[in-house]
Amino acid sequence: MQAYLRNSRAGLSLPKLVFLHGNVSVGCCEMDKTEGLVGKPCKKCNQPYKTVPLLYPILKKNYAANLFISEQWLLLKRSFKNAFMITIFGYSGPKADQEAIAAMKDAWGISGQRSMEQTAFIIRPGQKEDEIHQAWDAFIHSHHYEIYEDFYDSWIAKHPRRTGEAYINQYLDAQFIEDNPIPKEEDFQNLWKWFEQFKDAETRMPPRA
Ligand SMILES: [Zn+2]
Repeated sequence: MQAYLRNSRAGLSLPKLVFLHGNVSVGCCEMDKTEGLVGKPCKKCNQPYKTVPLLYPILKKNYAANLFISEQWLLLKRSFKNAFMITIFGYSGPKADQEAIAAMKDAWGISGQRSMEQTAFIIRPGQKEDEIHQAWDAFIHSHHYEIYEDFYDSWIAKHPRRTGEAYINQYLDAQFIEDNPIPKEEDFQNLWKWFEQFKDAETRMPPRA
């Protein structure tokens, strides 16, 4: 959350975050179903956002019991259902967490039905590829996934902010495109500048029909 706030000052549009197990900085207003930083006023009623419970790794978590957490899962499910590409960072899968498995199966659909979508895994140092195959077998279509040991080798790092478009150009429309990789050795100020190149197209309103 702190990194998100620092980066939001650069004026770039940032992704939607969901906190499936709660977050110490993120609170909610149950009455208005809004969320924001703990202690800051609710957009609707002006009362301070209250903390949400944290769900630790236990065998049976009751995700449905808390309004905030169940909303977060709903958002994840909706995003998974509509996603063309999914990238998973350093997560070995919902092995013991039965409710997370059920929720992800439900959200992701049956692996065979998602034949066109692409899933990528950025693995942790020491994490084995076998571990990924086993843990994610139920979720991913047999050939449509990639495993990267280095984030900078991944499609998302080679085509930031245009990841899906680049993929469609390259692999579905068979138009060979050049990589536009995230610079590796820059500080945040220079990275933010580098990302400015996308801003114009992202903020321009589409022409009215
Ligand atoms: Zn409120």
